[in-house]
Amino acid sequence: MPHDLFDKSLYDFHTPQPSYWEATAGPSPVQGKPLEGHETCDVAIIGGGYTGCSAAYHLARDFGIDVQVLEAGHFGWGASGRNGGFCTMGGTFLSLKHQVRLYGEDETRQYWNAQAEAVELVRSIGDEEQIDCQRQGNGEYVVAESDAHFEAMQKGAEFKRKLLQRDYKVLDQDEFRTLGYDAPHQHGAVLEQPSFGLHPLRYAQGLAAAAERRGATLHPHSKVNAWHKRDGVHVLETDGGSVTAKRVIVAGNGFLPENLHRQLRGRALPLQSVIVVTRPLTGDEQAAHRWVTENPVVNSRHVYVYYRMLPGNRLMIGGRGDFKGTPVGEQTTHAYLGAEIARLWPEWAHVDMEYKWRGLVCFSSRLSPTIGRFPDDPSVYFGLAYHGNGVNNATWAGREIARWLAGGNSGDDPKPMHLPALVRGFAPRFPVPGLRKQYARAGVAWHKFRDWLG
Ligand SMILES: Cc1cc2nc3c(=O)[nH]c(=O)nc-3n(C[C@H](O)[C@H](O)[C@H](O)COP(=O)(O)OP(=O)(O)OC[C@H]3O[C@@H](n4cnc5c(N)ncnc54)[C@H](O)[C@@H]3O)c2cc1C
Repeated sequence: MPHDLFDKSLYDFHTPQPSYWEATAGPSPVQGKPLEGHETCDVAIIGGGYTGCSAAYHLARDFGIDVQVLEAGHFGWGASGRNGGFCTMGGTFLSLKHQVRLYGEDETRQYWNAQAEAVELVRSIGDEEQIDCQRQGNGEYVVAESDAHFEAMQKGAEFKRKLLQRDYKVLDQDEFRTLGYDAPHQHGAVLEQPSFGLHPLRYAQGLAAAAERRGATLHPHSKVNAWHKRDGVHVLETDGGSVTAKRVIVAGNGFLPENLHRQLRGRALPLQSVIVVTRPLTGDEQAAHRWVTENPVVNSRHVYVYYRMLPGNRLMIGGRGDFKGTPVGEQTTHAYLGAEIARLWPEWAHVDMEYKWRGLVCFSSRLSPTIGRFPDDPSVYFGLAYHGNGVNNATWAGREIARWLAGGNSGDDPKPMHLPALVRGFAPRFPVPGLRKQYARAGVAWHKFRDWLG
């Protein structure tokens, strides 16, 4: 269970992260109060991030369903309020070739069409609900760290263009110097669209407040400690009370205690991701690397870092965390990100990091998102494991779960057969779940070795 996987400091639901997002989100528009006493509803949702709030928003807005959301911290406390704000396509760690081998070309195309649709869904919710989430940029750059990477990326872009029938713009080093930035480790880039950057916590809280305006009931600081089924209905217990519901949506992703239900055990592999934000760069500092792009950027290494220039000219950079989750491990990974800043942009080696924080991303054993219903109980729905790409994916998963639940016309099938095969149903449990972190360690070591080989 996640609580066994990492240090307890990662599960302090009542303490917000010391993130740049928390410092700049402004007062939360969410009105809800912690659960007190006993309540009943049609659908109870565990987790108030993008998955849970999108499901609540669509259930209430489109179907008038009586829904309550139970969130252990404040709304957006989890990954949704502390991520890098990349609203980009992805959601899977399978290579495109593996996707085709496992699922075929049509399913792979459907998956990537859904990725683009999911990015646009975030944009449209932001517009319709007037969420001031500071959208930035118009695409995501993948920057080549070497000429060899650039060559491989050019071939990859061609393969993607043909297979996915989407446009991938290739920019050589000079073009990217004009449109992106200049630095010793930039050897050209590929632009993927649609994508943009946003303020993740403002989006999370705006989505939650929109769900509330549409009729959902939200309970912050209401951690579900126990879950029983009695007389055919679910009873979710918190410190302050309980909710009885006909149906439940599990939307806790990497922070969910998997001992809450036996079906959840061994299904997910939460892993740490860590972010730092610098002080504002001066005009001269920014000019030293000719930084002009507002697009989110990721570099081409296997163990990659992701970065953006935030409003106010602060550089944000994120990457993998350690495997223990202790405060000491956190300091080590923050130092690693500082070293990455110095390596990638030598002129900024001296720039202080003003904000540092971390959180859990979530993987599945099949390396793609998992959306479905419990095999032995079709009244329980779930959506999780977006592989560090949940801004679009979790929002989309929440909407799709809401539509599936409200449609009520798919019998008891535990898999949403109308969705792309890559996301259908539970991924198998990890073999020997106690070894999950060891698998991840081995994976990272292998990818570092590949990076070392160049
Ligand atoms: C550091 C970091 C950087 C990332 N960067 C990006 C990025 O740039 N772009 C991107 O697309 N994705 C990114 N991600 C991933 C993305 O944030 C997640 O995939 C997405 O937010 C998942 O949304 P969610 O609602 O499923 O889960 P969460 O947002 O984690 O929400 C789950 C909620 O469940 C609550 N919960 C857990 N247990 C209980 C319980 N027992 N009772 C009640 N509530 C409970 C938690 O408090 C939590 O708030 C990043 C993640 C991290 C950690």
